[in-house]
Amino acid sequence: MRLFDLHCDTITELCREGGSLRHNDGDISLDRAGYLTQYVQDYAVFIPDEYRGQAAVDYFDKVYAYYRGQLAENPDLSEYGDGQDTKFQAVLSVEGGAGMGGTIEGLHHLADCGVRLITLTWNGRNELASGCFDEEDIGLTDFGKIAVAEMEKLHIVPDVSHLSKKGFYDLADTAQKPFLASHSCCDIVDNFKARHRNLTDDQIRIIAQHGGIIGVNLWKMLLGNGDDNSYDAVLRHMSHMIELGGEGFVAMGTDFDGCDIHPDMNGIQYLPGLYDYLGRHGFSEKLLDDIFFANADRFFRRLLFTN
Ligand SMILES: [Zn+2]
Repeated sequence: MRLFDLHCDTITELCREGGSLRHNDGDISLDRAGYLTQYVQDYAVFIPDEYRGQAAVDYFDKVYAYYRGQLAENPDLSEYGDGQDTKFQAVLSVEGGAGMGGTIEGLHHLADCGVRLITLTWNGRNELASGCFDEEDIGLTDFGKIAVAEMEKLHIVPDVSHLSKKGFYDLADTAQKPFLASHSCCDIVDNFKARHRNLTDDQIRIIAQHGGIIGVNLWKMLLGNGDDNSYDAVLRHMSHMIELGGEGFVAMGTDFDGCDIHPDMNGIQYLPGLYDYLGRHGFSEKLLDDIFFANADRFFRRLLFTN
């Protein structure tokens, strides 16, 4: 089984709490990922909404130093696309465009650090756009539009998870290249948080039509209500996405170490259970490998390593 996971908060959590990527009690550790034959993990530096400007840049730099340290400590972990053929590979992302400090120079700093994906906002508003819980949705700002154009030049992919609805449509109008939703589900769950965070059918179709991908989030709150938030809920969200946009754009965005997940799935060691369940409910081997790995791998190879 191969895995390409588009979102986790593991390095941010470990940097804050202390601990190593190799062994820890969180949702992801390299020692529990050994069963995977190939494993690419997006590690997000999560920028809390209270940090803006230089404070956000300083926060990024602190978590980034931790990330570099973990790469140095683990010879079987290298950066995705750097030419080393290690068992584990890392994609660096920033969750919250505030990490660029509100300047294009700040964006270049992130690019120099190897950031491949920027989640434009978290829940609140920042210099680029309104987040999904902003009381007034101003969409993408002028700076946000300039930043997105520059990100495309720098081979950094814009991520719409957490972005407001108007922000999403502004981005779809502005973007010249495909964009993604790293950790989102479908707007088929009726609770306040899910209604704001999940993607409508129209948004899902637009992402697919633009050549983008969507990582399905395992957060209980986005998957379902009550007890209905385990394997069957994941099956329902993935099937809904496939109905809307086909099989080539659905991926995994676990949100490990960043949210509350059903005990059946709350750790990397449990993913084979989900994989088997989906297989028993009509997903072919090829579709499973596409969702768990190949769709994301194809997307990044096309976008990051070609002009
Ligand atoms: Zn998130």
